[in-house]
Amino acid sequence: MLDWLSSTFSGGGMTAFITHPACFGHNMGEGHPEGPERLAAIRDRLITAQLMDFLQEYEAEEVSEVQLARVHPPRYIRFLESVSPNVGTYRVDTDTAMNSGTLTAARYSAGAVVKAVNLVMNGKVPNAFCAIRPPGHHAETEKAMGFCFFNNVAVGAMHAFAEYRLKRIAVIDFDVHHGNGTEEIFKDDERVMLLSSFQHPFFPYCGDRPIGSNPNIVNVPMPSGTRSDAFRDMVTDIWLPRLHEFKPELVFISAGFDAHLEDDMGNFGLVEADYIWVTEQIMKIAEQYCGGKLVSVLEGGYELSSLARSVAAHVKVLANV
Ligand SMILES: [Zn+2]
Repeated sequence: MLDWLSSTFSGGGMTAFITHPACFGHNMGEGHPEGPERLAAIRDRLITAQLMDFLQEYEAEEVSEVQLARVHPPRYIRFLESVSPNVGTYRVDTDTAMNSGTLTAARYSAGAVVKAVNLVMNGKVPNAFCAIRPPGHHAETEKAMGFCFFNNVAVGAMHAFAEYRLKRIAVIDFDVHHGNGTEEIFKDDERVMLLSSFQHPFFPYCGDRPIGSNPNIVNVPMPSGTRSDAFRDMVTDIWLPRLHEFKPELVFISAGFDAHLEDDMGNFGLVEADYIWVTEQIMKIAEQYCGGKLVSVLEGGYELSSLARSVAAHVKVLANV
């Protein structure tokens, strides 16, 4: 018990809530489910739930070229710049588009995670939640897809390796979709343990077999219709033992909330109580192995009410309210 106590966060500060107005400038068109109203719904809910009093709000800074280039090669960034439209939209795949504000939003989104890493690693805050868009977990090294352009969590993880000399980072992805981008980026990098549960078969139609040499990629495909019990059993039986073995020095959550029962984007049946529970489990791991150092980053979640309620439930646990 003493070991557990002595390893918990001993600095000051409240859970950081990191966002940027530029994230509202990315718009893929009227009626697109990944719209700026998602962030507005989250903020409204955090205010009405009186949670903002327990959060320290920070404005993200723009990611630097060096920070971005640790994950995405300059030629990919130049390509995105070359197709970035001044007016209208440019489509990178059937459901992912850029408008004039997309690249700036993407730069601040990745920058938010870098800021979160700095705040957490320097002991300014115990943990952080990044309310950002575009999301990131489908973005591969050189491929924008699935509403994602830059892999925000991967940029944060590579920043933590480079600046804080970490050796083991866990990324836990409970979005209903497979974090294929994060897998592709870290497929041969054993310093990263990726735990990704997802509906399968389903977009992006991969994750069912290894694509690289990293034994710490733990993909858990689950059938349509997966509900609370099966999800919690999976976390208990697969994720937690692997995390105890791995002993992470920093924990990221790719926090997608589209596995919610009310979210039509997927066919899982999670509810707020599940997000509370899984957040508690992850926090216990972080407390046991890395002083509670945890950075949670918004991914999916498209039904505005369930998204906002789930984020509030998640953040409430992070903030220990
Ligand atoms: Zn998703």
